[in-house]
Order: sequence, then structure tokens, then C-alpha cells
Amino acid sequence: MKDVILAVHGGAGKKAPADLEDAYRAGIEEALRAGQRALDNCVDAVEAAVLALEDNELFNAGKGSVFTADEGHELDASIMRGSDQAAGAVAAVRSVRNPIAAARLVMESTPHVLLAGLGADDFALSAGLVTVTPDYFSTKHRYQQLMEVKGTVGAVARDTSGALAAATSTGGMTNKLTGRVGDSAVIGAGTYANSVVAVSATGDGEVFLRGMAAGTVAALMEFAGMDVTEAAAEVVFTRLKALGGTGGLIALDREGTLARPYSTPGMFHGYLTADGTIGFFG
Ligand code: ASP
Repeated sequence: MKDVILAVHGGAGKKAPADLEDAYRAGIEEALRAGQRALDNCVDAVEAAVLALEDNELFNAGKGSVFTADEGHELDASIMRGSDQAAGAVAAVRSVRNPIAAARLVMESTPHVLLAGLGADDFALSAGLVTVTPDYFSTKHRYQQLMEVKGTVGAVARDTSGALAAATSTGGMTNKLTGRVGDSAVIGAGTYANSVVAVSATGDGEVFLRGMAAGTVAALMEFAGMDVTEAAAEVVFTRLKALGGTGGLIALDREGTLARPYSTPGMFHGYLTADGTIGFFG
């Protein structure tokens, strides 16, 4: 895919049941439009796109997040600016409504990269972000299948200056232990951006952590001379597969080439090109 300026994913997993496909498509398009409006700055764009997906209960991030083993919700999110490799993340938060906004604040207003748990929720509250009670994240599912197809969300963007950014947000894996942190909160695993490529991943979080999924795409491009399509495929189809993990990622290089490999039956994703064309894949 060429000339891409923004791409989003809504998670790797099963394909959407036919009766929900339109709703997923609409959610992906809405996120692309939200990101497009903010595309003067690639960090604003990925935050806006992910925030729209967090607010959409069809996706496993923000509202509609999956349940932990103790029937609560703990959310992970991270964001990275490629130009200077600044990054911010929150892990296992329970009350900030939009974890991606908290991750951005960690990046921009603290000397840290990752805040976790209560401290992260307190930080978000004192920074003025909206907080909610845990029931906000729970949704009553009309469709049992919905839980089976839900995935993490993410975005990658390239702004007019050619700068790149990536963001990822998730409710994690269904039935995870309280305190479990997945790849989506970890820079280099679920999210990575530098001056060469921006990457947001989705899939078996433990394997993506062990395989340093997103960072390895960048490393293969920088150190092994691969292009974005080769590097992304190598990570998803060879390295993560060898570790026993399935999933996918979106990777956007500085020329606007988008790679979007996935080893699951489906990965909701969409892209926007410089001429305003939107593409959607279920
Ligand atoms: N990678 C996410 C996690 O492990 C889950 C997903 O992508 O669906 O938390």
C-alpha cells in the first residue's frame, strides 16, 4: 500500500460476523476521519484515531474492554513520536477513561516512559483527564461472538513534515490475571516509532513481548536492510510464529508504504492515503 498517511487497526483475531461487519467498518472509518482532522501533527493524529476506537465499544480498548479474571478491567496503552523517540505509556489502569490520552501525558509532562496501576490513574486524574467507574468499561454484549472477535486498537501516521508516530491501546486478554501487563503498554513490543517506521501491533501479547515485535520491525529495516514489507512479514510470519504467537501489525515507513501482515483469520484495519482515499479490511 503506497502514499498512506494514516492507518488504524482494530485488533487481530477472528473475522467479524457478517451482521457486525458494517459496524466495524464504520468504527474504523470514524477513527481514520478523527485522525485525518489532526494530521498536521502525527502524534495528534494517532492519539485522535485511537481515542475514537477507545470510545467505540465494539473494540477491546477503553469502553468495551475485556474482563480480567476477577471481572474487572485493566487497560494498557502507549504512544511514541518517531522524530525524537519520545514515548509514554500506562499499564493496568482502571479509571482513566482514555488510556491513550494518559499515555501521551506521560510522554509530554513527566520524565518517565511508563506509569502503572494506581499511580498512573492518580496521575491521570490530577492532570485533569476524565475518570470513570469500572462499570463504564463493561458493555452488555448482544452478541456472544463479539467477545471472540474483539482486538486491541492502534494507529500509525505520517504528517506533512514526514514525521512518524504510533499508538496502541487495549483492554488486554480476556481472563488475564489482575496485574498482567501486555505488549500494548510496552515500547518496542506493541508500539514503536523512529524516523524510519511507525508500528502498532496486536496479538498474543506475551509472545509479542518476548519477540520485541514492533521494535524488531524497525531493527530489521535499519540493520538488515529490509524494506517495511519484508521486515513486517519476517516478524509476524517467521519470528513470532516460531515463538508460537499469532497476530498482526501495521507498519508505516517514511515514504508512506504501509505493511499490514497478520497470521490470524482476520485483522480489522483501514488506511487513508494522501489523496483522501480510505480502504478497509475485515
Ligand atoms: N496484544 C494484546 C495484549 O496482549 C491483545 C490483542 O492484541 O488483542 O494485551
